[in-house]
Amino acid sequence: MQLVLLWDLQELDLSISEFKLKIEEAPHLSGVEETNEKLDELKNELSEQEHRLAEDQKTLRQLEMKVQKIVDDWQELSGSLYSGKITNVKELEQMQRKLDLLAAEKQKLEDNIILLMESVEEQEMALKETETGVNKSEQEFQKKEGLLETNLNLFRKELSRLEIDRNRLAEDIEQKYLKRYEILAQKHQGRALAKVDDDICSGCRVFVSSGLRGHLYNPGAMVYCENCGRLLVKLDNQQ
Ligand SMILES: [Zn+2]
Repeated sequence: MQLVLLWDLQELDLSISEFKLKIEEAPHLSGVEETNEKLDELKNELSEQEHRLAEDQKTLRQLEMKVQKIVDDWQELSGSLYSGKITNVKELEQMQRKLDLLAAEKQKLEDNIILLMESVEEQEMALKETETGVNKSEQEFQKKEGLLETNLNLFRKELSRLEIDRNRLAEDIEQKYLKRYEILAQKHQGRALAKVDDDICSGCRVFVSSGLRGHLYNPGAMVYCENCGRLLVKLDNQQ
């Protein structure tokens, strides 16, 4: 009976739509996008931290070189001061003042170095933490991506099986039924046909008139619900 086949076709088409929707929604539901965004954010943070750290390490080296230069200057000046070659008191006093200034400058630089070293140490620790976060996020991303791929493969496999069944079934249905079905399916979100349960249209829940009900048992007739316009089908052993 054509209407029964048409009903089965509708069931298959509804399943096909369902799987197409699943395939469409799977990437979004998988959380892959969010994990990837989080990973990108962490990678950016890591690169900023690395940049800042490299800058501070460079500054640290420069400060250490300055200190070394001061130590060299101090030793040279000190050597001259105590060589006994210079006897002019004023000149000696001037040299002593310069030595004092160098010592003060050295102290200031060393204080800065200590502060910067502490900051570098903290930054190195924060960097390690971010690295751990990046690794974790990367693993999470790969795991979710793998799961998504597995699910998509399953859905695609199921979809192609349904499509094969659907096309095979459609071959057994007359064109006039198929055309009618396609027009009605567009109108009713894929539900062109409605079963009649207890004299009620399952599509709109409205009572089917006794006049129409009589036609339902005529296998060649196409009977439409007077309320919603769906093609009515009375299935045997219907539950
Ligand atoms: Zn109806």
